[in-house]
Amino acid sequence: MWLHDFIQLIYPQICPVCLNSLAKNENQLCTACLFSLPRTAFHGLSSNALEESFWGRLPVKHGTAFLFFEKKNRTQQILHEIKYRNNRELGIYMGRLFASELRGSSFDTVDGIVPVPLHPKKLHQRGYNQAELIANGMGDVMNKPVYNNLLVRNIYTTSQTRQGRYERWENMEEAFALNEQMRVQQKHLLLVDDVITTGATLEAAGQHIAAGDNSISVASLAYTYL
Ligand SMILES: [Zn+2]
Repeated sequence: MWLHDFIQLIYPQICPVCLNSLAKNENQLCTACLFSLPRTAFHGLSSNALEESFWGRLPVKHGTAFLFFEKKNRTQQILHEIKYRNNRELGIYMGRLFASELRGSSFDTVDGIVPVPLHPKKLHQRGYNQAELIANGMGDVMNKPVYNNLLVRNIYTTSQTRQGRYERWENMEEAFALNEQMRVQQKHLLLVDDVITTGATLEAAGQHIAAGDNSISVASLAYTYL
């Protein structure tokens, strides 16, 4: 279609992973990159490393991640695009893709989705919460409500990379609070984040949801083996 070619000429749509131009029938990622994403397939296993990493820390019913994160791999490029290059469409798209993979798995039983909130200061800097974009895409495909305001974030946490897990946890513990006005109770909620490394953020956020008499599952777009 000439209109597509015309738009492509002015605003070329490129695949953020391989930087090739997208074909007319491609959206966000080119077909080759789409098929070669480093998928974890965790949701098809009876137990997985991500779920096990929460044992004794947070009562997680089911845990999964869509992609393995490695430095300089496709996942890092996608995350970079979503977090730092204002590519909100890609965030929603990846959430939709993730949820499509989860169809027919134990994640069908969740009642709602809760994105991990950003601190207001960071939200102001970035203009959007990438976890919320992913959650919205997932909610769309799973046909579940997304509770964007159930959790609130209090403290601005910085320079966490130099701290150990315990210090990080101590720092994170008070970082979240439950929005009491929401009164979501006895629900199975899926806590969603963009990337899991130590799990400290999800652990801290999840404590508040569990305290509100809800059960928790966790899903992250990317997962890093430590
Ligand atoms: Zn590509």
